[in-house]
Amino acid sequence: MKTIDDFNFEGKKALIRVDFNVPLDGEFNVTDTSRIDAAKPTILKVLEDGGSAVLMSHLGRPKGKANPDMSLSHIVDKVSDIIGVQVKFAEDSVGAKADEAVAGLQSGEVLLLENLRFHAEEEAGDESFAEALSKHGDIYVNDAFGTAHRAHASTTIVAKFFPENKCFGYLLAKEIKAIDKVMETGEKPVTAILGGAKVSSKITIIENILDKVDNLIIGGGMTYTFVKAKGGKVGDSICEDDKMELALDILKKAEAKNVKVYLPVDVLAANDFDNNAETQFVDVDKIPDGWQGLDAGPKTLEIFKQVILASKTILWNGPVGVFEMENFAKGTIALGNYIDEATKGGAFSLVGGGDSVAAVKQFGFEDKVSYVSTGGGAMLESLEGKTLPGIAAILG
Ligand code: AMP
Repeated sequence: MKTIDDFNFEGKKALIRVDFNVPLDGEFNVTDTSRIDAAKPTILKVLEDGGSAVLMSHLGRPKGKANPDMSLSHIVDKVSDIIGVQVKFAEDSVGAKADEAVAGLQSGEVLLLENLRFHAEEEAGDESFAEALSKHGDIYVNDAFGTAHRAHASTTIVAKFFPENKCFGYLLAKEIKAIDKVMETGEKPVTAILGGAKVSSKITIIENILDKVDNLIIGGGMTYTFVKAKGGKVGDSICEDDKMELALDILKKAEAKNVKVYLPVDVLAANDFDNNAETQFVDVDKIPDGWQGLDAGPKTLEIFKQVILASKTILWNGPVGVFEMENFAKGTIALGNYIDEATKGGAFSLVGGGDSVAAVKQFGFEDKVSYVSTGGGAMLESLEGKTLPGIAAILG
């Protein structure tokens, strides 16, 4: 695996695909700089070697047309503050404006190109667009995990124009190592905690990780499809009736593979999908009609706690309750605390995929787990066992 450390950038231009798809407020201020912070080490390595950096990214979903609201010019000052160098800006990612700006770039300088997705060719993975981008650098560095699952021009296709001179940036290399540590080389026992709303969106992940884990904790809205399939009464809880057979099949496969599955035994049920609804703790398989399970109950959390504390490798994807509502967030918070405790005891813990990162950030667990993935969709696809095109393009 070639990383940025395998290259000396002295006198070279690094063409770096970063993920600067950051949230902006109504006045175009960056409200969360994590993605810029995450790209900083890679950019600094290039500058410290004596090279220059051409940064390319997308922002939002302009759908192939220039849109001033989604211009990356809004973030130039913030990126400059964070990197500690006044960043230059090119008003386009290809064409005369970009070429001129790149040609004038000196060692130690950083240039940010305009939003790649102002051109429909970016998402289409257009080869001539990728070739035009490739002219901006001597070495291609991919440091954007958040888009590594897309075969776009700047994330995948461009790599073919750098047969020898392509590598992973620090962030992408870290993501790959973290996933590997859970999925391939993790110290046993390995435990996956899968929560979230629906079985249907997690099926491929579950099937893939059954070969990798010792314990599988299932929580959140997914629970009720399993419980009903086993003959339990789930009341008005979220349930995918058409996935019940699949749920039973997963349980059978898990047993055959010697994977222990832990489902909730009790839940906090509510008489409405509302933070102020009436609530009661009930057995997971005896939820009365008119009531729905919205969070894990105390007996469940005690079981989950024992499993987590005995684990050496932990993967967490998805909340075990409707964490957006304060009264149904306690299970997810408790789970985060157990993972924190296990991590302090030496376990490796990885959180990522979909909404998990939002939950982790909201409750301040970001610094308590070993690694928080920066890519929602990319992480989910990695857990499904897919080789991401952006990663394959560097390896190939
Ligand atoms: P996902 O993106 O699949 O990880 O799903 C996250 C969503 O699952 C969050 O918005 C939670 O509110 C939701 N969720 C978790 N538990 C439940 C539940 N018991 N009933 C309904 N939704 C749930």
